[in-house]
This record gives sequence, structure tokens and C-alpha cells, in this order.
Amino acid sequence: MPDAFLSRIEGVLGPGALLVSRESVEKYCRDETEGLFMRPEAVALALDTGQVSAILRLASRFGVPVTPRTGGTGVTGGALPVAGGLVLSLERMNSILEIDRDNLAAVVQPGVVTGVLHRAVEEKGLFYPPDPASLDSCTIGGNVAECAGGPRAVKYGVTGNFVTGIECVLASGAIERWGGKVKKDVAGYDIIGLLVGSEGTLAVVTEIVLRLLPKPAASADLLVPFGGVGAAAACASAVVGSGTVPAAIEFMDALCIRAAKDLLGRLPRGVEGAEAALIFQIDGSNPETVERESLKVGEICQACGAGDVFVAASSSEKERLWEMRRKLREALLARCRTKFSEDVAVPPASLPGLVLGLKDIERKYRVEIACFGHAGDGNVHVNVLRGERDEQAWAGLRKEIMADIFTLAVGLGGTLSGEHGIGLAKKDFMHLKFSRNQIRLMKRIKAAFDPAGILNPGKIF
Ligand SMILES: Cc1cc2nc3c(=O)[nH]c(=O)nc-3n(C[C@H](O)[C@H](O)[C@H](O)COP(=O)(O)OP(=O)(O)OC[C@H]3O[C@@H](n4cnc5c(N)ncnc54)[C@H](O)[C@@H]3O)c2cc1C
Repeated sequence: MPDAFLSRIEGVLGPGALLVSRESVEKYCRDETEGLFMRPEAVALALDTGQVSAILRLASRFGVPVTPRTGGTGVTGGALPVAGGLVLSLERMNSILEIDRDNLAAVVQPGVVTGVLHRAVEEKGLFYPPDPASLDSCTIGGNVAECAGGPRAVKYGVTGNFVTGIECVLASGAIERWGGKVKKDVAGYDIIGLLVGSEGTLAVVTEIVLRLLPKPAASADLLVPFGGVGAAAACASAVVGSGTVPAAIEFMDALCIRAAKDLLGRLPRGVEGAEAALIFQIDGSNPETVERESLKVGEICQACGAGDVFVAASSSEKERLWEMRRKLREALLARCRTKFSEDVAVPPASLPGLVLGLKDIERKYRVEIACFGHAGDGNVHVNVLRGERDEQAWAGLRKEIMADIFTLAVGLGGTLSGEHGIGLAKKDFMHLKFSRNQIRLMKRIKAAFDPAGILNPGKIF
């Protein structure tokens, strides 16, 4: 990067907010994607929208690539500076600007940690449903850029279903506001829908208006063991098809259950020795409805051959149950030297086909595959463990296995990613899902927003 560019950026940010030394940029060399490390030439810690605008205006003028980043918990390498240049961090823009009861809306900066927003709105009797398992470290900005999901997406939907307004800065430095607190808006193209999930390639998000709901008055959490992954997947599909809508239906296989036990030292009651398990969360406006729905879900599970249904009775039992689910990624990483993970999604009724197809891939390549995830959405996190293979053998095999996993999902009417995005990790496989014409059209949209291609280059395509 030219010195003239860096000194102008320093002038915009003020002292201490432009990081250039090896040690100070260390944290920004990786996100949570396994095996990726890329050193930025510099990191800008922006404090407000005006600074973001000035930085992008200068980057455009000097032709410097800019990679937006907020929480750094992404798992597809989206926040890594593959083309070098500047990482633009929004982590210091972390204020909840407004919680508006009358309009059931929150206005936040991108750096607000998702779990912090949950607690802030719940204190006021309100509810923001999207709940990625990384909620204690990921941010609303990153959630919007990836259209993050989470367990409760089954009933409530993903981040995109809650975004009604966005302020963003284009590559040129222009500040644009779209939407607001209005709940219905069909004037013009759905630019908010386009920005959500655009992985920092179209614009930098600097403010977000989110739809809120009243907080459900009651909830129940159920843990259900199964003798096999096929039975658990079939049960999840049966519950979805029954007309009952749990807030969450999470799935995990035997390898995940064993890894969780190794990490946590113990498991919630009833799941020890199971070949698979489902976690259900059922919520509603009163305890009677929740109890009725829980019984119905329990009956469907029994009809699908489940073991005893364990109902978490206290808040600590509930927390232990969800802690097990949230720590699965960490538990698997603790168990193996290296793994890679995909988050393919299929229509919910095709979930059994997906998990059984993954078993075939496991046998074909003689690898261990651990699966967990959002069964109610047909969205499975597929973790392929490296085992004792050396790096070279693993690199070659990895591409073949990824292609097989994506081909399986797409063949079942599904997609390459349910919630983690494409980033760097999956861009070589876009042709499995999209025609050349469709990819060309998407590239033209990118060029319309960012003609010089400075914003998060090298991602998605
Ligand atoms: C343990 C664990 C569990 C997870 N569980 C889930 C889960 O249940 N559901 C789920 O969906 N994801 C999950 N994730 C993935 C990750 O947490 C999400 O993708 C999250 O949305 C990323 O947010 P972030 O703030 O960390 O974004 P970052 O990692 O900083 O960035 C992610 C992408 O967004 C872009 N970006 C970031 N901020 C902005 C901005 N302000 N403007 C424009 N672009 C921006 C970046 O360029 C990058 O492409 C999990 C990750 C981990 C490590």
C-alpha cells in the first residue's frame, strides 16, 4: 500500500486506530475457518460511518482492496484479506442505538455482539430470535453480511427475516440508507435482501434496523436419543411435517455425542451411548400450549423409535443441554488434528437422504464424518476429520470429498451453504449450484455496486 494512502487513512482515524505492526495485526490474520491464515498489510479500526466513508473513498482513489470484518467468527474465510490491502474492522462501532417498543424495532451498529443484543431486548420483554451458536462472539454486522441462522430459524427464520433497514457505505464512499422501521416495503428493488448475505462484497454495513418480537412466555427443551442417524433424521422430518413448529430441532450423531462428553466431562441425562440425538425447543405464549406441543413432539419421537424423552426441568439443565450443542465444534476440534466442515442444506423432508448419503461418502473415502446442526431446516454441519493422513494426501482428498458432499446436497434440491456463506472456502464449487449465466448476472450486480472491485475481492466467485 502506498505510504501516501496510509498516512491519509491515519489522518482519518486519529491516533492508535491504524494497525500496521506484525503483532498488532496478528488477530486479523485468521477467522474461525480451519487452516486459513492471511496477513493484512494494515487494519483500520473505524469508529463511525463518516470514517468508513472516508476510508473507502481513499481506497477507491488509490485502488487498495478493503476487507470488512467485525467479529471474526466466520467459517468460510470471508474476513481474510486474500488480495492483501486493508482490513476494515467495525468492531468498535458496537452501540445499541435504540430499542423502540412502540415499533418493535432495534437500531444497532454492526459491532454489537449478538448475545448482548439478545439480553438487552429481553430485559424489555422483547425478543430477537436469530441465535447463531457463536452468539457470544459474533456480531450483528457479520450476521447481516452472512445472513446467519441458528437453531431458532426453524420457527422464526434467519437474520434476513429480521432486517428492515440498513445504512451502508459503497466502495465509492457514498453513504446510502435503505428501508427503516417500516414493516412492509415493496417500493423499488429489494436492495436490503441483496445486501443481506452479500459477505462484504457489495457494501460495508454501518447501521442496521432489526424487527423484534414479544418474548415468548414459556418454553420447554427436550433431548431425545436414537439408535441411528437415519431414525433421528426421519423423526426431525416427521415433526416438521406434523404441523407442530418447534422453535428449534437440532441434530447430532454418535461421534459428536462422544466428542461432547470428552470435552465437557459429562452429558445431559439420557444421551449416553446413543447413536444420534435430537434437541427440541418448543416455545409459546403460555405454558399449556407449550406442554401440549411437547407431548405431541414426544409422541412423534416414540413412533419413530426414539429412546426415553428427557425434558430439561430447570434452567441449569436447559443451559447444560444447549452448552453441549454450542460446544460441538470445539469438541470435534479437540478430538482431531484437523477437519473441514461444510454446512449444506436440503429441503427438510430430504434430511434422511442427506445423512444416509453422507454415510456412503464416509465409506467411499474411509474418513470419519461427524454431523450436527439444524435438522429442522435440513441444514447439516458436515465435519470431515483428517485422521492420520499427511497434509498432501489430505489436500487432494478434501477437494474430492467436498465435491461429493455438494453434489449430494444439490441433487437433493439443496444448496452449498445454509448459513455460513461461500467466502473463499467454497467458491470453486459455485458451478455445482449455478449456471454460467446466473454467475455472470451475479458478477454484474457486484460490478454495479463496486466497479473497481476493491471491496472484499476474491470472495464468492
Ligand atoms: C463456534 C461457532 C458456531 C457458529 N454457529 C453458527 C450458527 O449457528 N449459525 C450461523 O449462521 N453461523 C455460525 N457460525 C459462523 C459465524 O459465527 C457467522 O457467520 C457470523 O455471522 C459471523 O459474524 P462475525 O461478526 O464474526 O463476522 P466476520 O467473521 O467478521 O465476517 C464474516 C463476513 O462478513 C463480512 N462482514 C463483516 N462485517 C461486515 C460489515 N459490517 N459490513 C459488510 N460486511 C461485513 C466479512 O467481510 C466476511 O465476509 C459459527 C461460528 C463458530 C466459530
